[in-house]
Amino acid sequence: MPDTSLDQVLAMADATHEEIAAAVQQAELPALLAALYVLTGDETLIDEALRPSTPVLVGPGAPQGGMAPAAVDQARVIAARVLERHKACWLASPAAFPGSVRKALQFMTCDAGSDILALLERELGLGAAEEPAVARAVANEPFRVAVIGTGFGGIAASYNLSKAGIEHTVFEKNAEVGGVWWNNTYPGCRLDTPNYAYSLTFAQKKDWPQQFSQRDEIFNYLSSIATSLQLRQRTRFQTEVVALRFQEGAEVWHVTTRQPSGEERTEVFNAVVGAAGHLNRPRIPDFPGRERFRGRQFHSAEWDHHADLKGQRVAVIGTGASAFQIVPAIVGEVGELKVFQRTAPWMLPTPTYHDDIKPGMMWLLRRVPYFGRWYRLWHFWVSDEGRFSASEVDPAWKHPVSISEKNERLRQTCLDNLRAQLAQRGRLDLLPTMTPGYAPTAKRQMRDNGVWVAALTQPHTTLVSCAVSHFEPDGVVDANGRKHELDVVIFATGFYASDYLDPIKTWGRGGVSLTQAWAGDPRAYLGLTVPGFPNLFILNGPNSSTVVNGSAPYILECGAEYSARALRYLVDHGHASLECTEDAYQDYVRRVDQENARRSWGQPQFATWYKGKNGRVVVAFPFPAHQYWVQTSRLVTEHYRFTAKPATAAAPARETGSLVAS
Ligand code: NAP
Repeated sequence: MPDTSLDQVLAMADATHEEIAAAVQQAELPALLAALYVLTGDETLIDEALRPSTPVLVGPGAPQGGMAPAAVDQARVIAARVLERHKACWLASPAAFPGSVRKALQFMTCDAGSDILALLERELGLGAAEEPAVARAVANEPFRVAVIGTGFGGIAASYNLSKAGIEHTVFEKNAEVGGVWWNNTYPGCRLDTPNYAYSLTFAQKKDWPQQFSQRDEIFNYLSSIATSLQLRQRTRFQTEVVALRFQEGAEVWHVTTRQPSGEERTEVFNAVVGAAGHLNRPRIPDFPGRERFRGRQFHSAEWDHHADLKGQRVAVIGTGASAFQIVPAIVGEVGELKVFQRTAPWMLPTPTYHDDIKPGMMWLLRRVPYFGRWYRLWHFWVSDEGRFSASEVDPAWKHPVSISEKNERLRQTCLDNLRAQLAQRGRLDLLPTMTPGYAPTAKRQMRDNGVWVAALTQPHTTLVSCAVSHFEPDGVVDANGRKHELDVVIFATGFYASDYLDPIKTWGRGGVSLTQAWAGDPRAYLGLTVPGFPNLFILNGPNSSTVVNGSAPYILECGAEYSARALRYLVDHGHASLECTEDAYQDYVRRVDQENARRSWGQPQFATWYKGKNGRVVVAFPFPAHQYWVQTSRLVTEHYRFTAKPATAAAPARETGSLVAS
């Protein structure tokens, strides 16, 4: 979507002095100054005195990137003056002032390292702004890829494969695109990472209505990208990939899918990009007697919209990210609410969590060319480090819960916030129960604007802080033997997060299954590839989730770019397959494990779903977020083994993968 339209230019030209003055009062200044500088070349905008400080966050984050109050006032005056002067004649091209983009980035980031600046230039996406994703032909070579999934990852994979000129077919088990943003329709479902940064570089949206947008907004975003990329035309909906089998010699994958009719069908592809996600297989604990419960019961990700909660006795089991959004959304409707908490969550004060983007900001986003990109970039940059430094263990720090001085500061900030809210509601009795016993950052933190405490302190809400013992036909009995009579039970109990690619049965070279290769402990080189499984890329695979910083779309986009680049290289060099070497894999996993051992979530005393079945951290990426781009921004060919094309390779058929007789 282009950044500048005639309407936008005209709207700005008509802007009054008062409108401009009001807008800059609500502007995110570091981003506005950078955007205006690149449009006008006016050096006063990036004066040394106006620089934001580095974006290391411990608490909720400093307003205006930590600019001093005097600098904030001065920046507003300068920005307003520049807007007045240029409003009728935007140059509107970021190329107008050579070198200005790099200078603006240095200003915003206090001269971050060159690695980061290169990444930020990519994230700014100016090059991609008007670049259509058009496939260029692969020189007379039938080479086809199966992409699994149409969430952020599948969309990014399709975009990058198209750009690389590689034909591909997308398989989607649902009836629509969107992945988790299609599946999750529970009340209150919304983002809990800032929206501008939670978006794709090549499909930026300048007017998100909120910084933590609601589910429909994100789903509509993905749907509109799918339309503009013509993704639906190459997608087979309601077609679930159930098995992947590598055929050695031919160096191809046999992809078995379950058709909408239920029938299974196997086709041949040269490569597979798995973008099936790992937070989409609902996990419902095996509570005894659950099948005998006479009321309604369902998982948060499979919301039963026929269940009328009005006046009902409802239980929500779990207090993770999903429950944290569901409970405040339904509390006003239900007759009685029981919230079953096994572990209290840490809540990060975010007073603006449900707020709209301020009108002045929206006014600017809609009028100043490319401002949305700079605003997104600002959020991306702030989230790159985020609270990451508070997750690092200081071996000299001695405390029963926190793991470093910074971590303790974060803990105190969150604790003060919780205490103040409970005190205000006269419910300090809940403080011990609601205080987590683990270091903040070891598990996902919740965005808090007060609605959680408000919901839990309603007269008809009970916080049940013990385990579930078993179900009975008319309710649940807790571990203290207390019976809770219920009409509806909602399981907000999470997902099989560490079962990557599961339940797709996957066999690589020598008929070895991925399950055997991993032996309950998923690992991957760059979180993407596994030796013995050539031409298979798992986007956001093992150890590639940034858990306190960055965003999932960023990680998925890095993986999508990397796999398209690797496959393009393969085709261009006439190889049939590539697979990472055992050495590269072992070395990468060793470095990941070493680094995870220094992080809060890697400590043996803390239970977290970032760990797999045998206790190793399998989900978390332990390096700063920008490192993932550094690691994936080029293909280190020495880390791969390439296999030549067989003389009589059975090429996949033209339009889709070729069908295999079963
Ligand atoms: P989750 O964070 O894994 O939370 C599951 C909850 O269920 C936890 O409170 C867990 O307790 C509890 N639980 C699990 N087994 C239990 C048992 N046997 N008895 C009692 N309680 C049990 O799952 P989630 O809330 O669905 O979130 C998963 C992830 O999805 C998030 O971390 C996030 O990455 C993503 N998500 C994102 C958003 C968003 O951006 N808006 C929203 C929702 C989810 P313990 O803590 O003791 O294990």
